Parts: sequence; C-alpha cells; structure tokens
Amino acid sequence: MKQKISIITVLIGFSLLLSCNNTQEKTTKNEKAATEHPKVNHKKNCKDVHWSYHNAETGPENWKNLCDGFSDCGGKSQSPINIDTKDVVQSKDLKAIEFNYGKSNVDIINNGHTVQFNVNGKNLAKLNDKDYKLLQFHYHSLSEHTVNGKHFPIEVHFVHKYSDKDYAVIGIMFVEGKENPLFKKYLNQFPTHEGEYQSDETIDLLSLLPKNKDYYYYNGSLTTPPCSEIVSWYVLKNPVEASKEQIKKFSEILHNNYRPVLPLNGRKVKEFNQ
Ligand SMILES: [Zn+2]
Repeated sequence: MKQKISIITVLIGFSLLLSCNNTQEKTTKNEKAATEHPKVNHKKNCKDVHWSYHNAETGPENWKNLCDGFSDCGGKSQSPINIDTKDVVQSKDLKAIEFNYGKSNVDIINNGHTVQFNVNGKNLAKLNDKDYKLLQFHYHSLSEHTVNGKHFPIEVHFVHKYSDKDYAVIGIMFVEGKENPLFKKYLNQFPTHEGEYQSDETIDLLSLLPKNKDYYYYNGSLTTPPCSEIVSWYVLKNPVEASKEQIKKFSEILHNNYRPVLPLNGRKVKEFNQ
C-alpha cells in the first residue's frame, strides 16, 4: 500500500512537470513561417499539447498560448530568474536546509525534455520547518537560473513536494572541475533519446550535494509547462563539479533545455548564510 501511494505521488509530480511526451526538438522547415505568422492554438485540453525550447510556435515565448492549462506561463511570478547578488536581501527568517536523504533506487528517464532520475523511497528535505518529499531530480543545460547575468553549464533540480500546491525545488549549479562520480557511473547509459534506463544500484543522494548549503530563496514556478506558481525555490550558492568532457557529453544529450530568465516583477530574492 505504502509503495502504491509513493508510486502515485511520483506519477502526479511527474505528470505535473512533464505534461508532454513528445520526442526531442527538431528544427522544422516550418520554423521560419511560424516566426512570421505565429499560430495561436487555443486548445482547452493540455494533455497532448507539445511544447519545446527552440521552436517559435511551441517555444517558451508561446507556452502560455498553447492551451488553457498553460496560462500560468504568462504569470507574474515565473521561474527561472536572474539572481542579481547586489539586490539580494539578507533574511533572519530563513533556516538551514535539513537534508534527510538516504540511499535510493532510481529509474533514469529521458522524456524528450530532460534526463530525469525518479527517486524511490522516503527522502525528505526540511525546508523552513516543513518536510518536503523528494520526487525526482533532473538536469538543464545551460543553467536556467543565472547569477549576475551569467549561466552555468548545467543546473540540476531536486523536485520536492509538500502538497499539490506546495512544491520546493533545490537548484544546484555545475562548474567545470573534477570528474563527477554520478555521471561517471551513468552517463554512458543515459538514454540519448526518449527512453528509460532501469538501475538496480542505489545512489547515495547526499553525495550529490555541495558541502556548503547556503542558498538564495524566492517564490516562483515550475520552469516547464504548466508553469504553475507553486514553487519555493532554493538555489544553492555553491556548485558541484563535473569534468569538461562530461559536461560536453551531457550538454549534447540535454540540447539547450533551459527556459530563458523571467522578470522578478517586484519579488525579492533572499539569502541564507550559515
Ligand atoms: Zn528543472
């Protein structure tokens, strides 16, 4: 029963974030025509709507118009954002993140938009007094958030859920450096196109995090359709490392799957320092 519930939870989180299972983006001959005359399809049902990162018709600028359920993509509290460090507010209300992660089995999926590790088992992060359950983590290249206007080569998102209307995502940047042990283990098996790779091995999730867990905090959204504004964002200040070759190889699989930054619209970014 427990397992059933956790599978359902994972599926709900999964479908919320990834409501489209189309194949990887391909530039079409129609792209030029679409730029000149962008079509606006008002489909009520978002279920089979295809969205993308690079095509004028189905790309980020037009997500909000693809169907009614994606209208949040045009909202005022969207993610990602640029974090301008000179505007960040020191906050005494914020607390250190308590990671209660263990060793977990994972399923690795390429859903056409990202490479995602679905996490089994009970892994919690205590975020400002609430226990959020880790559902999955996935990757973007380049990074979605920028810091002082600068992208990092890769950003990983650890997606947590407290309730249907309360998600928390912890974002961690990558810099070029030492070989990344997780990539070393799995990069050759990552599905390069839509598909799934099942692993019997367990991953020590804590080993994926930087030592220092200071963070930037703000209220935002899912960075993929339906772009629901239900996410507390924790962007860690300290990066993790991967080698130049690993970054190159992974970036080729991820294929620029980042949403451009959106305006803060009066939101404040706060910071927690240990
Ligand atoms: Zn993401």
